Amino acid sequence: MRLQFQQESKAPPLPDDLRRRFDDVLELFPSAVTVHDIDGCIVMANHLAAALLGHSEDELIGVRTDIAVWHLTDENCRPMAPDDYPVHQVLRTGNKVTGRVVGLPARPGSGPGQRARCWVICNAYPETDDDGKLRGAVVCFTDCTELKEAQQRLLKSEERLRLMLEGSSDAPWDWDLASGETYYSERWWEMLGYRAGALRLDRATWRRLLHPQDLPHVTAFMADLLAGGRSAYSIELRLRHSDGHYVHVLTRGVVLRDPAGRALRMSGTNTDLTERKQSERRIYELAYFDPLTGLPNRRFLIEELDKTLARHSRSGQYGALLFIDLDNFKLLNDTMGHDVGDMLLRQVAERLRQALRDSDQLARLGGDEFVVVLENLGAGTAEATPHADHVARKILTLLGQPYELPGSPSPRTPSIGITLFDGSADGIDQLLRQADLAMYRAKADGRNTARFFDPSMQAAAERQAALDKALRDGLAQREFVLYCQPQFDTEGRLIGAEALARWQHGEHGLVSPHEFIGQAEASGLIIPLGQQMLEESCRALARWAGDPLLDRVKLSVNISVRQLRDPGFSTSVAALLAASGASADRLCLELTESVFAENMQELIEHMQALRAQGIHFSLDDFGNGTSSLAYLMRFPLASLKIDRSFVRDAGANSATIVEAIVALARKLKLEVVAEGVEHEDQRDFMVDCGCDALQGYLLGRPVPLPEFELLYGAAGRA
Ligand code: C2E
Ligand code: CA
Ligand code: CA
Repeated sequence: MRLQFQQESKAPPLPDDLRRRFDDVLELFPSAVTVHDIDGCIVMANHLAAALLGHSEDELIGVRTDIAVWHLTDENCRPMAPDDYPVHQVLRTGNKVTGRVVGLPARPGSGPGQRARCWVICNAYPETDDDGKLRGAVVCFTDCTELKEAQQRLLKSEERLRLMLEGSSDAPWDWDLASGETYYSERWWEMLGYRAGALRLDRATWRRLLHPQDLPHVTAFMADLLAGGRSAYSIELRLRHSDGHYVHVLTRGVVLRDPAGRALRMSGTNTDLTERKQSERRIYELAYFDPLTGLPNRRFLIEELDKTLARHSRSGQYGALLFIDLDNFKLLNDTMGHDVGDMLLRQVAERLRQALRDSDQLARLGGDEFVVVLENLGAGTAEATPHADHVARKILTLLGQPYELPGSPSPRTPSIGITLFDGSADGIDQLLRQADLAMYRAKADGRNTARFFDPSMQAAAERQAALDKALRDGLAQREFVLYCQPQFDTEGRLIGAEALARWQHGEHGLVSPHEFIGQAEASGLIIPLGQQMLEESCRALARWAGDPLLDRVKLSVNISVRQLRDPGFSTSVAALLAASGASADRLCLELTESVFAENMQELIEHMQALRAQGIHFSLDDFGNGTSSLAYLMRFPLASLKIDRSFVRDAGANSATIVEAIVALARKLKLEVVAEGVEHEDQRDFMVDCGCDALQGYLLGRPVPLPEFELLYGAAGRA
């Protein structure tokens, strides 16, 4: 069978004898051979050539190779242009071509784009006549498929390795222990800031590169590794960078050993841990340090305190825990803004740092609370107390100095609570609670001072906690009842009433507000309690509107500044009025002068919102406190209640003051109410001074609301 692409050769056939000789030689030749005429046609092919090309020798004779039928591929698996086929290169140039690797197609003549079936290494030589004229070419080719495939596999894995190494931050190295030959990758050098090969990595260099603290254990580790039977290992160490800092490195490797277990070679990678160490550090700092001041935080303190207590319990020494709280910090934060608050906290932290010894612990618990722990103050409280007191005084002085803050805020002071411990303490929580209680005592004693914890504080705190719980239960059981005390004008006509809370306690009977209002304010329970009182008052007012004797009576309800500060207060009062149907114009809210304490602008806004609904305001206990007359004008007030103390000693001493208050009230168009009127001379005195209304036991005691309605309402008269 002839190949379909066979073409007739123009060259004359070889003489028979020559052809036979050739045939014999060629068949014995260990390589495939094809002989081509000047046009590239095959004139001879041995059996190896036929096998590789996939055709019989006969079929190959006369086949022209200058056409693309062979579809050879080059070394890089790209299709070759026929002009580049080795045979044509020889025929074109007259020069030999050697060592060319060429891919043969899967099926010759089956079309382009075939994957090489096999690979051959190919030499092609020019054949000339006696005159040196080019007559043809001889091509010898040998199957090298296996080699080629092995090379391709190698290239692929090399490429993969290269990509892997480029993509990772690992730096490979290799050390032949037998020959001493080493290899350190580019990345390895880069990690330490050197040009590759810049250092001779001998023993002395290694000693210089390793961090002095790591040197002993790394040396020991290596000696142990080489001597022992382990193969894989990893160790963290620090190596000196060319710029002097130390790089945290993780070295992981394997040791190759001979059958006797002797180490022959070590290979591995170094991983730069700098970033990991940095993020570990950041995580640690976030977890244990306060970002604002850089001081240790509560968590750190608690962990350290645990160790401190253990040490003291062993040594029998006393230490002290100081709880420092800035006075009126919240007010500064609210009025000057948080930025100023933060500035102050940073400066406080700095001063505390300077005031303390290195062995003292300092932490910021949060907000404006700092804790100082002093260790080893002596073997007993008698010895430890003056030490702790001395440090507390020092802190009071230091923190009392002026601060660099925008505006010129009032001087800042701290209150300090101190508790001593000897390691037998009941635990950290207990210690912190004790110091906290002592700090509250310092606040209660006028601030800017220090107080030591004593067990009576604990007892008081426990009583408070018990009262708190009882208040909560009382609220849930609706044990708080409303009493009403009448108010009269100077003609003796009923014009108002004051609503006063009483606690109808299951066990203790009727409890006076003096015993629970303070604690309810401290715990915030005054808000639900006040709400219940207001609710009842509104319902009463709604009832009174239908009573000809009570329909013009105003009801004054005491409210705490905490209620007024509550942003939802004004809407909740509006809702109560709406739900009950009471007229806002009959409701008066009584405030004490404590409203002057802080953040008045906000309070004034809340009051105005309530006033806009028609509600009146009265300022209670006027004259005994710190009222600023300037602020008096800014409050939307309807009346002043003169403090009971002026009424009590009605006489020459208070006459001037009462007259001045009345004059002031006239100017400000405020009514004046005298409360606590117990005797007729007191009443006469107040009337003489110009008071508009009177309230007191003389005129009527506080009575339960239903009784009040019976006493003063139309129903009672019927
Ligand atoms: P306050 O607002 O100054 O109430 C007047 C207090 O004087 C009442 O005491 C009243 O019973 C008493 N009082 C009335 N007339 C006389 C008198 O002629 N002589 C004497 N010695 N006292 C008289 P109460 O009811 O014990 O209330 C004490 C304080 O408790 C009140 O003082 C008020 O500040 C607070 N309070 C009472 N109820 C509430 C309430 O519902 N909410 C709030 N936030 N505080 C309340
Ligand atoms: Ca009152
Ligand atoms: Ca009062």
